[in-house]
Amino acid sequence: MSTPTQFQAAPMQGERRVRTISGNKGLQIEEPLIFEQGMKGRSGVDLPAVPQHKDRLGALKRKGEIGLPGLSEPQVVRHYTKLSQKNYAIDMGVYPLGSCTMKHNPRLNEKMARLPGIGDLHPMQPISTVQGALELIDQLAHWLKTLTNMPAVAMSPAAGAHGELCGIMTIRAALLARGDARKRILVPESAHGTNPATAAACGYEVDPVPADDRGRVDLAAFKAKLGPDVAGTMITNPNTCGLFENDIIDIADAIHGVGGYFYCDGANFNAIVGRVRPGDLGIDAMHINLHKTFSTPHGGGGPGSGPVVLSAALAPYAPVPYVVHGPNGFALVERGEQAFGRLKGFHGQMGMFVRALAYMMSHGSDGLRQASGDAVLNANYILAGLKDEMTPAFPGTCMHEALFNDEFLEGTDVTTLDFAKAMIDEGYHPMTMYFPLVVHGALLMEPTETESRDGLDRYVEVVKGLAKRAKAGDAAYFKGAPYHTPRRRLDETLAARQPVLRWKPEAPKKAAE
Ligand SMILES: *Cc1c(COP(=O)(O)O)cnc(C)c1O
Repeated sequence: MSTPTQFQAAPMQGERRVRTISGNKGLQIEEPLIFEQGMKGRSGVDLPAVPQHKDRLGALKRKGEIGLPGLSEPQVVRHYTKLSQKNYAIDMGVYPLGSCTMKHNPRLNEKMARLPGIGDLHPMQPISTVQGALELIDQLAHWLKTLTNMPAVAMSPAAGAHGELCGIMTIRAALLARGDARKRILVPESAHGTNPATAAACGYEVDPVPADDRGRVDLAAFKAKLGPDVAGTMITNPNTCGLFENDIIDIADAIHGVGGYFYCDGANFNAIVGRVRPGDLGIDAMHINLHKTFSTPHGGGGPGSGPVVLSAALAPYAPVPYVVHGPNGFALVERGEQAFGRLKGFHGQMGMFVRALAYMMSHGSDGLRQASGDAVLNANYILAGLKDEMTPAFPGTCMHEALFNDEFLEGTDVTTLDFAKAMIDEGYHPMTMYFPLVVHGALLMEPTETESRDGLDRYVEVVKGLAKRAKAGDAAYFKGAPYHTPRRRLDETLAARQPVLRWKPEAPKKAAE
């Protein structure tokens, strides 16, 4: 997407610059844009000639070619196959992104979601013909409510961020219903960016709460910020430092004491499923990222699904539609008297509901409990394996992700970014970097429960080896990494600020990335 600005990389020790004639490097094959490969008149199908007829398009009639590239079927197949192979995926190896929970997706879930009776459904079918689908939504809702000990759930939000929007809009509707519009929402400094963004998008002033030196919400600072104009707070638990907010009950009591609501960001539910029920902690609303906690693939931006569990006080304001038990089976409520409205076309991400329910049913309560336990165990295994060579951000054990700061790189001239680039050469997707913002040069690693012990051992050995290499003074090596990728160091800022999203025939070379 971006114009590649290749920095001059320092040569590796003993590196011989091998340039192939094709530009390909073994199985790393250069792939031009599909537009650059297209040829006028070439096609993968034989279409009958369009018969002459009088159209009624008038001024809307197309004046030129629409510019579709002409390719044969094998060209198209090769193009997309090659593109698919440029992706790193959880199916290829450890994907240690913290705050993201990239976990294995059991194939059973995929099989269930593809059953024709489910995959071929259409959301506009008559209710009487989709009773099974509504029952499935209802059952999943039941288990989400059971696992969280909350009385209601809004199923339609399409992702975690969308769930946050749903939760804060529900809270706003409840506040407005009691004639009590409030202004401020308290958000910890370590919060995921979607939290303050959601609060701001709903018209609230975001009031940041500092973290204490244990990486948790500073309870005294939190209480000092409370007042009658506080609509609520948005707190992630376990938080984005991979730590359990152990003052959470006091926080809930305090926010309720001033008439505000407690929104919990439940993106890290994977760490506590079957062990902690958020409803027992005084939470009023919480989204659950089905794609993080109950599997289902979510690379490349989707699909996601973010049902929001709600307290009894908030439930009446939840968005439509929702499933109810009617006299003639399951029914959909499309208009709610107090509902704040509709968040999304239709009922939510049906395919993900199927996968999440298949995941829950195949695990059982003991399996879900073991998954969260193993997720925490694996993260602590990484923390223990790396803590002598790297610098943990906070003392003690962690929950589902291990967080390091860049102190161990001090004086080496190697940055967190350089370190991540070197990990790519080792065949690992880098961990989350520079997040949370409260930790300097953060390196946040989440292995999830699905990595084996020997897989973790290899990962620890590699990361430790890199840390040793950095400390041994080999900064030049890190500055040049990655050495083995199709592109080396791209100008990521330029790529983010000025993405080249359109191919223009006039300047095909310039847009080639
Ligand atoms: C992933 C995540 C979100 C956003 O969820 P999406 O499903 O990506 O929209 C919000 N908060 C935290 C802590 C997260 O990890």
